[in-house]
Order: sequence, then structure tokens, then C-alpha cells
Amino acid sequence: MRISVITNWAYAATVVLTVLSGSAFILSATSANRERIAVEEHLALSDLAEGLALGAEERTDEARLYVMRDDISYLDAFQGKEAEERLRERSIKGIRDLGVAPIELQALDDVQKNADVLDRIEQEAIALYRKGDQAGARQALFGPEHERIQTALLSAVTRFRDLVNARTQAVMQDTQKRSDWWGFVAKTLLAVTAAVFLSVLYFILKRRIAMPLMRMTGIVTRLARQDYAVDVPLDRRRDEIGEMNEAIHIFRENGLERDRLDAERRRDQQTKDLILQMMHRLQACQAQDELAEVVALFAPQIFPDLAGNLYIMNESRSTLSRISSWHEPRRSEPVFPATACWGLRRGRPHASSREHGDISCQHLDHQDAMGLCVPLTAQGDVVGLLYFEERPQGHIQAEASRLYLELIAENIGLAAANLQLRDKLTNLSIRDALTGLYNRRSLDEDVNHHARDREMEQLCCMMIDIDHFKRFNDEFGHDAGDEVMRYVAQTIVDTIGEAGRAYRFGGEEFTVLLPGIGDAEGFDIAERLRSNIRGLPLSHRGRILGPISVSIGVGSLAEGAAVSTLLTRADAALLEAKAQGRNMTVMASVLLPDSKRRGSA
Ligand code: GH3
Ligand code: MG
Ligand code: MG
Repeated sequence: MRISVITNWAYAATVVLTVLSGSAFILSATSANRERIAVEEHLALSDLAEGLALGAEERTDEARLYVMRDDISYLDAFQGKEAEERLRERSIKGIRDLGVAPIELQALDDVQKNADVLDRIEQEAIALYRKGDQAGARQALFGPEHERIQTALLSAVTRFRDLVNARTQAVMQDTQKRSDWWGFVAKTLLAVTAAVFLSVLYFILKRRIAMPLMRMTGIVTRLARQDYAVDVPLDRRRDEIGEMNEAIHIFRENGLERDRLDAERRRDQQTKDLILQMMHRLQACQAQDELAEVVALFAPQIFPDLAGNLYIMNESRSTLSRISSWHEPRRSEPVFPATACWGLRRGRPHASSREHGDISCQHLDHQDAMGLCVPLTAQGDVVGLLYFEERPQGHIQAEASRLYLELIAENIGLAAANLQLRDKLTNLSIRDALTGLYNRRSLDEDVNHHARDREMEQLCCMMIDIDHFKRFNDEFGHDAGDEVMRYVAQTIVDTIGEAGRAYRFGGEEFTVLLPGIGDAEGFDIAERLRSNIRGLPLSHRGRILGPISVSIGVGSLAEGAAVSTLLTRADAALLEAKAQGRNMTVMASVLLPDSKRRGSA
């Protein structure tokens, strides 16, 4: 029940009880007043009866004394008393009008009648005495008739007094009882009023207002300090305090929500900052491994709940290979064909999840796995794939995260495409288009680099020239000549492997630099190369091109030779090989007149 209702009820109850209690007090006082009036009436009536009896007695005495002593003063006194008697008679009439009980009036009438009879006897006795009949007068005043009437008068007075006494007593008892009863009722009602008042004070003020208010004050103070961890017990009371409690509850909920939104906004801002940082770094990447490193560093910071892989499409656009990963994703293959991914096929993000009713990519290790594939595209070309999967406690679903994922994918795609373009341009500038080997410019740069590198102790250089190459052009056409050139170039690369670099020097001449390799080993590699080129017969458009051989000149830093003269010395050795009949290796070191070595076919 609402406090205002309780207060109104309590107020009404207090007013009603106070009015009742006041009325009871008034009734009690009225009864006491009636008792007082009854007592006064009783006294007045007693006095009157007493006066009647005494007056009759005194008049009798005066009349007797007059007759006995013949003193006129007694007669005067007798007649004076008569006047008093008349007065009393009027009083009796007044009492009659007051409405005294009939039985009392009967007694009063008896008194008056007897008094009148007595008065008449005495008047007659005085008259007899005045006429000189003293004996008759005395007989009348002291005779048995007078005695009888006087006795009757006294007994009538006594009876009247008894009746009045009895009635007054009854009235007094009744009014006393009423007064006591109403006094009791008034006191009881007063006590009840006080009890109601005290109960209201205790239950409403203390239990329902003061105590909850004190509790709420503590809660509100903590909420004001933005301490939303404070527990607000849900008070289901349907009153003002209950409403206040509910308002505080809502206030706390709002505070928590605001905090949550603030935290979300901060997290979002943090994510945006990280994405921005990542973008800046992606733009500054100069190689794919740098790009892989940047993505592997920032992606787990931006999406702490997700593990992932970064895949790059190979040049032939058939296969994707993982170049970096974070948070150890377990479901996606490190290398897979482009056709195995629904994201790549559709050219848009694809969430693999049979559970959510969508088809799963085939590069996921089991088909029920949950994963998100975001294709990396640039200018309409797919350059790679960003793959995410949920960590045990993480989730992919948030829409904002999806937008960020796509934004990141777009930037990584652009960066990867830029790097690929850059690689292509670099290759174009440093490689030979026909053979794929490094070009002459690269050779010059590398030679200069080696010349600057003073710590280099060993460096071997081979100059390679295809023997009678012109013949292939002439006999089989330029395409066949090109084929021979590519074959020789590939064989050079395959033969030297990681040991050095191969360059197209110009025309059908090639150069190989082998850092850390000395004279003898250089010679062996050259011989192996010569033998490899010679090994397989080459065909072009169904025609056997005939045997292919090369002449090789080998120079090195042995005997303190300078890097700057290395190419010239190897070239001189090559010329020597040509001069000596081709298909052979000549060491520059043996060009000196008496230390000449040669290899043979
Ligand atoms: P030698 O054994 O003395 O080296 O004889 P050779 O025929 O190999 O040498 P020569 O210098 O007479 O001929 C080289 C030829 O290589 C001349 C040129 O037409 C040809 N040539 C140069 N560059 C290319 C090329 O890129 N493609 C083709 N098909 N031929 C080329
Ligand atoms: Mg040649
Ligand atoms: Mg040549």
C-alpha cells in the first residue's frame, strides 16, 4: 500500500478516534453535570420539605404561645410565619412545574394538605381565643386532632424526603455509572489514538521510510561516485519508496549501460587507431614478408578473439599459400587450391558454418568448422585471402567487427597488390625478360657491391657463351634460338642453385657470380654446368635442335686479383676457350703463358 494512502488512513483514523474520544469526554462531563444537578435538586427538595415541617412546627409554637401567654407578639410572629408559608406554597407549585415524580407530588400534596389543615385548626383556635374561649382554643391546639394532623404532616414530610432521596440516589448512581463509562470510553479511545499514532510513527516513519531511506542514501552516494558495482536490491513494494528504489535501479542500469557504451566506444576507438596504424605500416611495406609480419602483429591486437591466417595467391592464380598466422588457427590448410574457398569463388566474405546453414569451404579441415574467409582484392583481382576462426572464447558475429574485417582486408589486398606490382616492376628493371635471369645492370650493381665489400675473400665469376648459336637462329628460326637461350639459362640456374646468381650478359652470353667460391670449386661447377647443358637433346616444334654446348671462362679473386677486373679476366678466359675450339672451360688464372688448364667435352 502506498505511504500516502497509509498516512491518509492513519490521519482519518486519528481524527475519528479523537472526535469519538472528545464526544465520550463530553458525555462523561454531561453525566457528571446531571449528577450535580440531581444532588442540588435533592438538597433543594429536602430543604423545602424541612422548611414545610419546621414552618408548621414554628407556627404551631407561636399560636400555642399566643394562646398560653396572651402576648400579641406571638400572634404577629404567627401571622409573619403565614407569609413565609405562602412563599413555600409557591415554591411547591414551582416544584410541581419542574416535573417531579407523581408519587413524590402525592407526598408533597399530603404535606401541604396536612399543613393547611393544621393551619386552619390553628386559625380557628386563635379565633376562639380572641372570642374569649380559652379552653376551646387550647383544646384545639393541644387536642388529639392537632396532634394527629401534626404527626401526619411530619410523616408526610419524611415520606417525601425518603422518596426524593431514593430517586436522587438512583439518578446519582445512574449518572455516576454513565460518567464512569464514558470516561472509560474516552480514555480508551485516547489510548487507541495514541497507539495508532505511535504505530504510524514506528511502522511508517521508521520501518517504511527512515530505514529504506538510510539504505538508499548509501546506495545513491555510491552511485553518485559512479560506483555502479553497488548492489541495488529489487524492492517490489508498491509505494513511493518502492518507486524510488525502482528509479535508483533504473539509474544504476543506465549508468552501467553508459559505462558499457563508453568502454565499447573506447574499444572501438582503440580498434580504429590500431587499424590506422596497421594501414600506415602496410603502405610502407617493401616486401611480402614485411607485410606478413605487420598483419600478424596487428590482426591479433585488433581482433583478440579471433585466430587467423593470411594467404597470398600464387602467380598462376591457382594456389593460395599461408604467409603469416596469429593465435594458432587450427582448421584451415596452409596451402590449398583457390577453388577450395567459397569466399574466393564468390568474391565476397564467406562464413563457413553448417551449423548456421551455410556451406563450408573445402580448405577447412572438417566441414562443420566455423571460419570466415575474406578475399583480398585489388582492382578486381584476387590477390589473397584473410581467414579468421573463433578462438575458444571468441566470436565473429559483431557487425562492426565485420566492417573492420572488410576494411582491413581491402587495405591488405591493396598493399599486397602494390607489392606484387612493385616486384613485377623491379623484376622488369633487374631481370631479363626472355630468360628471367638478372640483367646486365644487375650484374654491374652486384659487381660494384662485391667490390665495396672488402671482407669478401673469395668470389668466382663465369662468363658463358653458347657455341655457334647463330646456327640455331639460322636453321630453326629465332624462336628456336630463344628456346635454346631459355634452356641454357634454366640449366645455369638449376646447376648453381643457391651458390650464386646468374645474369644475362648480352646476346647469347651469360655471367655467373659465385661468392665464397674459389678457383678449383668454380672450375668444377663450370664443368658440371657444361656437362648438364650438353646432356639433353632439345627439340622445338617437333624438331631436334642438335647438340648444345657452351664455352666458359672462369675468373676468381685468387692471387689477389681485384673485383673490378674479374669480368674482363673471365671474358678473356672465355675468348681463350673459343679460340681453343669451344665447348670447354678455361681458367683465367691459366691464361698466363705457362700455367694453363683446360677442360674437355
Ligand atoms: P660463337 O660460337 O663464336 O659464339 O658463334 P656464335 O654464332 O654463337 O656467335 P655470334 O656472335 O656470331 O652470333 C651470336 C648471335 O646471337 C647473333 C644474334 O643474332 C644472336 N642473338 C643475340 N641475341 C639474341 C636473342 O635474344 N635471340 C636470338 N634468337 N638470337 C640472338
Ligand atoms: Mg656464341
Ligand atoms: Mg657471343
